[in-house]
Amino acid sequence: KARQTGDASYVFYSSEMNERAKEHLRIETELRRALGSGQMLLYYQPKVSLRSGRIVGAEALLRWRHPERGMVPPGLFIPVAEETGLILEIGGWVLEEACRQISEWKQRGFNAPPIAVNLSSRQFDRGLPERVQEVLERYDVTPDRIKLEITETLLVRGPEQVIPIMNELAAMGLALALDDFGTGYSSLAYLKKFPISTLKIDRSFVIGLPREENDCAIAQAIVTMGQQLRQEIVAEGVETQEQMRFLRNLGCDQLQGYLFSPPISNEAFEQMVRDGKRLSLA
Ligand code: C2E
Ligand code: MG
Ligand code: MG
Ligand code: MG
Repeated sequence: KARQTGDASYVFYSSEMNERAKEHLRIETELRRALGSGQMLLYYQPKVSLRSGRIVGAEALLRWRHPERGMVPPGLFIPVAEETGLILEIGGWVLEEACRQISEWKQRGFNAPPIAVNLSSRQFDRGLPERVQEVLERYDVTPDRIKLEITETLLVRGPEQVIPIMNELAAMGLALALDDFGTGYSSLAYLKKFPISTLKIDRSFVIGLPREENDCAIAQAIVTMGQQLRQEIVAEGVETQEQMRFLRNLGCDQLQGYLFSPPISNEAFEQMVRDGKRLSLA
């Protein structure tokens, strides 16, 4: 409000603002511009099977190629987009771009494995299934080619709110994955109420494997429970051979992490799959 009352108050207001708030405002303005001018793109990080070592999917991760600042990681702008509501537009763009890419790949004779897209809790409303359906149809992408990654912050809204929408998505043939699992407050017992087919063990529990006793116990508990609930378990942020071996011995299904590949461009991902690159399970 102060900003509209003239230069003097703007200077006052501005001096009162902390650096973080100023940075937020700047990012928001630039984000709006970036969306419309092709500065956003998706990278793809392969997911590999711990049984075959083969690539069985990928996660689409948003990148902002800023004209001066270079590649801006999502951790720096997604929180701002969440706060301002811009995440709705951005999230819509991400889903559309993933479908466009899958359909382009298909036209080039490349049948890509399922691509997982991250969803903000703010995107999760009654209109979501219809919006997803529309994009899938427009690009002629079948629902088994897309997965949706959600976080535990969504589950705290409560089952009555969230399950009907989840059921609608599941009925359409879309698989739901629970991202960053273990970092939120949802209990294991609570989890079984929701139609979720994949659990992603958060990187913070993977880092300490196999040395940190607590991390080992948590990883073990998640895998055991996932198996009982017939969920697929993916470990994220796997960087070392030792972590891989530990997770494999637990019975974890897939891994995603620098050990196999960082997120890469669509061209590089296509090439990697075509080359049949495999994780060495030794
Ligand atoms: P996430 O969904 O948990 O994605 C995994 C993050 O871990 C990615 O960071 C990925 O680059 C990073 N990562 C993967 N393997 C390793 C590893 O071995 N070591 C380390 N140190 N890091 C690894 P990124 O791409 O910076 O994305 C960060 C977060 O931003 C994502 O976490 C996700 O929550 C959010 N995000 C990214 N794209 C989107 C999007 O399109 N929509 C929404 N709503 N959020 C997104
Ligand atoms: Mg994710
Ligand atoms: Mg994750
Ligand atoms: Mg994470």
